[in-house]
Amino acid sequence: MNQRPLVIKFGGTSVGYGAAFLRAAKIAAGAAKDRPVAVVVSAMSGTTDALLDFAASATRTTGGEPPRTSSTGATREGSLAGLHRTLARRHLRAAREAVPEEFLADVEERLHGILGRLIQTAGAPANDHVARKDAVVSFGERLSAEILAGSISGFGAPAAVIAADPIATDASFGEAEVLVDETRSRAGEYVRPLLEAGRVAVAPGYVGRGPGGVVTTLGRGGSDLSATVLGRALGSSEVWILSDVDGVLDADPDLIPSAALIPNLSYREAGQFASLGAKVLHPRTMEPASAARMEVRVGSTFNPDSPGTLISGHEGGPGVRSVALRRNLAMTHVTRDEAEYAFCILGSDADGLKVLADGATTAAVVGVGTPTDEDLLLGLRCLHNAGIRTLWAGNTCAGLVFAVDEAEAEAALRAVYTGLIPVETAAAMEEVA
Ligand code: ADP
Ligand code: ASP
Ligand code: MG
Repeated sequence: MNQRPLVIKFGGTSVGYGAAFLRAAKIAAGAAKDRPVAVVVSAMSGTTDALLDFAASATRTTGGEPPRTSSTGATREGSLAGLHRTLARRHLRAAREAVPEEFLADVEERLHGILGRLIQTAGAPANDHVARKDAVVSFGERLSAEILAGSISGFGAPAAVIAADPIATDASFGEAEVLVDETRSRAGEYVRPLLEAGRVAVAPGYVGRGPGGVVTTLGRGGSDLSATVLGRALGSSEVWILSDVDGVLDADPDLIPSAALIPNLSYREAGQFASLGAKVLHPRTMEPASAARMEVRVGSTFNPDSPGTLISGHEGGPGVRSVALRRNLAMTHVTRDEAEYAFCILGSDADGLKVLADGATTAAVVGVGTPTDEDLLLGLRCLHNAGIRTLWAGNTCAGLVFAVDEAEAEAALRAVYTGLIPVETAAAMEEVA
């Protein structure tokens, strides 16, 4: 294998139903014509929530044991059967829609095997309920990985799910820390042989293996992180993160419907924006990418011709590239030790360190990029023109912060967005069109 493997990650909405699996599979098979490809896949959208709800209800009702009877009178066997039925119906249907006849029986058999192991794991008595929760929730990704592998094979690129989870972690269940060297050796053992045999290697995202082989997870949305972790372990130079949006947009599209695609971002900017809640990327995705200097392309499974956002080590010029909103804060004074838990430090005065920390009264609109003094003044003017009082404004390690009253959070976001984000991107695109 003399070419560096490409890692492609498909999120939950990219595999939310049969036809979506087909689109994802076609992209992976197309890429595999030119170079070795490893695929990281999330659970079908909604599956992780269903598994977490099941695990939580078991812990709530019985302190950990799966409930013998729930508050509604359902038995433990009844709710396990319900979970099995729901997941079987959904995954078998997607498999029938996405996997051709030739590979279907094999995929169905594997899905039944995984569902059987899930029910065994979810129904068995457990000493460590936190550990069991991770084991239960990992099955969402295991199921979707089998369907996607069958579907990719159907496009003429032989694919297989890796025999063992490649990402090694510590034992921090629910938010495990990746162990870099151990992951490299597991990837060498379980992923590389498939790639060398000319296969597309499909790995369940989000899932890791802790000490003694115990199943762990990387935190909600963690498949993005799985992709860059695997890329680093395989010596990749490129990772694609494919979702249901065209790339990283310059604001959350739910809050700013006119948010536009950002063509290029630096690792620093993407990491900072993700930490502020840009959901398209797990906050830690950029750590392995930046350490190994891998380019990350964020794009859409549903619009593969869109160029997406290219994230690299290249820093753009001065200016604000994106705007985020952080809610539920309070402006307060803390000691030096407490400051490490604050959202950001605003400065120090006679009362100690002034910070924005968890609370209920204040929101922060945050500009990410390389903000200048003009950006600060412009933002202040926009807020003033919108009739919004700024409680504090300035450059912090979280970005260019405008603190406002919580009740004015969204209006403040719109005002700062309109003032600080240049309309060039949209205008340039219209020109090209
Ligand atoms: P996936 O299932 O592919 O991992 P996610 O739901 O985790 O996808 O992330 C994609 C979603 O993130 C988008 O549908 C969009 O609503 C939301 N989102 C929030 N902020 C941004 C942003 N700045 N750019 C792009 N998407 C964003
Ligand atoms: N399936 C997991 C979640 O819903 C991981 C992911 O989608 O990235 O959080
Ligand atoms: Mg996600």
